[in-house]
Amino acid sequence: MAKPDLSLLSRLPKMDRVLALPTLAESPWRRELIKAVVSERLAAVRTAIREGQTTEVPEADAIAEQVRAQLEAWAVPRPRRVLNATGVILHTNIGRAPLSAEAIEAMAGAAMACDLEVDLPSGQRGSRFTAIGPLLRLVLGTEDAHVVNNNAAALLLACTVLGEPGGVVVSRGQLVEIGDGFRVATMARAGGCRVVEVGSTNRTHRKDYEDALQGVGPDADGQPASAVMWVHLSNFSQDGFVSSVPLSELADVAKSHGVPLIADLGSGSLGRGLPDAEPTVQHYLEQGADLVLVSGDKLMGGPQAGIIAGKREYVHRCRRFPMARALRPDKTALAALHATFAAYLRAEEPHLPLHRMVGATLEQLETRGKAIAATMGWSDAALVASKATIGGGSLPGDVVDSRALVVPCDKPSRVARQLRCASLPVIGHIVEDALLLDLRTILPEHDADLVAVLKSIL
Ligand SMILES: *Cc1c(COP(=O)(O)O)cnc(C)c1O
Repeated sequence: MAKPDLSLLSRLPKMDRVLALPTLAESPWRRELIKAVVSERLAAVRTAIREGQTTEVPEADAIAEQVRAQLEAWAVPRPRRVLNATGVILHTNIGRAPLSAEAIEAMAGAAMACDLEVDLPSGQRGSRFTAIGPLLRLVLGTEDAHVVNNNAAALLLACTVLGEPGGVVVSRGQLVEIGDGFRVATMARAGGCRVVEVGSTNRTHRKDYEDALQGVGPDADGQPASAVMWVHLSNFSQDGFVSSVPLSELADVAKSHGVPLIADLGSGSLGRGLPDAEPTVQHYLEQGADLVLVSGDKLMGGPQAGIIAGKREYVHRCRRFPMARALRPDKTALAALHATFAAYLRAEEPHLPLHRMVGATLEQLETRGKAIAATMGWSDAALVASKATIGGGSLPGDVVDSRALVVPCDKPSRVARQLRCASLPVIGHIVEDALLLDLRTILPEHDADLVAVLKSIL
């Protein structure tokens, strides 16, 4: 590091000079906010000079230009649309399930004043859950269902309510971390619920649960657990010397001790065109789960939401618990969820974007890939076999055959960056030094957008 030259500080442009430049003086941004950003910028340069990190003193117009660009960048609508060419259909970092046109329209329709909590014929106050209730019950095949902000909220609410007073018992083999450091047991505990971990990482037996429900055994402190929790392993699998209690047997255990069984399914498939390997909500209910918790934006193909489905009494207790108010979904999410479930009601789920992406045939992908390659003037060799995944904590390690375009270029990571920074960003992925654009995660009606972006970059 160079020795700091503090004399440079006096050459820094003065605030008033920077503010007076037309770039900023004639800009539409709020004066006091421009001033705050210029001040931050000047402070950053001052620090850099003091720490000897720079010997260059920026001119006033360079600073004004940086500030203008910064303000403009901050004001770009975010999160904004991108094209997902990663081959991961439910990508948590890029918004999970893509919504249907109907769901998008429903969100826009509910955005202004809407009949969120009013019964229009009578003019009386209603509940925001009245309209979606019957759809959830019918489609999920359950007595009752409640909607919260997301599945983490569903878990928090269900455990806080049903874990009183003795807590929930869960196998150490199911202590899932779902991503970004969030752990199921930690979320279950967040509302004060006791979580009694039993068994070992690889093996948990019926007796481990029974002991916890009687408040005896090695993990006990004398207080019997008040509920049993099952967590779908979702993003990992175990094999070798393993043993777990199947869900149906766990339902037996819970029932014989008179406590509810909460099953955190997460991914939440309804079957119907999605891989059979993934457990469905219906299957969980059939096996005896009293409450099934699912995400709205994973295999359900809807917006961010958490659904608590199951026995009327338990759902009702969750709905009435004060915390439910803090976890409730907003009107636009409810509108999109309603539109998504209406698609299931009409047996139109094959038209949901998620189902279309999963169900696209290799022939369809190839036809599209060849057409795009031809438009771009690329040879057919640009189209390669690839592996896509469903993602969203579903089917660990399970891949779906797909087709991808290899972008012809010398510097894949540079071009990948250019694509991500395009006016319509395209997110591809690099495999063995080749920049791949997977076609399974792009809907056919967006191929023209992809071509336009590629043409603008290459
Ligand atoms: C995804 C997932 C969650 C969290 O769901 P969000 O909707 O992201 O809050 C919880 N549990 C399991 C098993 C999951 O797969």
